[in-house]
Amino acid sequence: GASETVYRVSVTAIEEGALCIFEDISEPEQIAQMRRDFVANVSHELRTPLTALLGFIETLQGAAREDPVARDRFLSVMAREAGRMNRLVGDLLSLSRVEAQERVRPTGQVDIAALIRRVASDLRPMAMSVGVAFDMRGTEGEVPLRGDADQLTQVLANLMENAVKYGAPGKTVHVDLSRALQEPGMRGPVYRIALRDEGEGIDPIHLPRLTERFYRVDSHRSREQGGTGLGLAIVKHILNRHRGRLRIESEPGKGSVFTVILPDDLGPGTE
Ligand code: ADP
Repeated sequence: GASETVYRVSVTAIEEGALCIFEDISEPEQIAQMRRDFVANVSHELRTPLTALLGFIETLQGAAREDPVARDRFLSVMAREAGRMNRLVGDLLSLSRVEAQERVRPTGQVDIAALIRRVASDLRPMAMSVGVAFDMRGTEGEVPLRGDADQLTQVLANLMENAVKYGAPGKTVHVDLSRALQEPGMRGPVYRIALRDEGEGIDPIHLPRLTERFYRVDSHRSREQGGTGLGLAIVKHILNRHRGRLRIESEPGKGSVFTVILPDDLGPGTE
């Protein structure tokens, strides 16, 4: 249908007053702009570890060549930076795969309770190393639903890993799987997987943008933790494909609740 014209308005103070610029960012232009921003972001995210790697290689070729202590230290930093690039490229590939499939409904059968148990047990070593415990509810037994097992595993892993990373040491991550007969805006019964952490929480002003690619509340902290800034964007696209939702609630200073809502009946296999 006919789309509206959307303007980006910027106001700059000039000597004679103010200069107001209207920039046409209606749909095609908006998409083109988003694409340019994305490419610029990816380039920047890749260049940061690459610059570090190039610097260390140069040092190793020069001064540090004969110093085994410095050499080992540099090599471990290089491994970390290469790991960061590897994760970023992996997440970019996941994102593009998921986006390409977004309109194709999954046809597989999964046991969501078993997936939750497995992701929790895979994350346990990492959680234990920071003193975080899991408290699981409703995840015993079998809970079958239609979905893509690998993708739903990725959703759970990204969210549970965030709950551990951004949770507080010595605190608990609460995982609660339940069924509800209705959910606002969705047809038919749903499954809800609520992941509640007791971390520092998120200021409400960030919530609407949290699932955007590369959007981070605290870039330094995210990078320090090895985050790519793509986890929630991947989650959002996978849930779209499953006709599901992600609900985010947070109370600064108390913690956050990320709730995955999946329809019990996904409807026809493909669209
Ligand atoms: P990242 O790789 O940076 O963790 P995500 O897309 O997974 O990227 O998350 C985006 C941002 O959302 C994070 O950088 C962090 O600021 C915030 N965030 C995600 N989960 C939580 C949480 N459980 N508690 C607080 N902040 C969170």
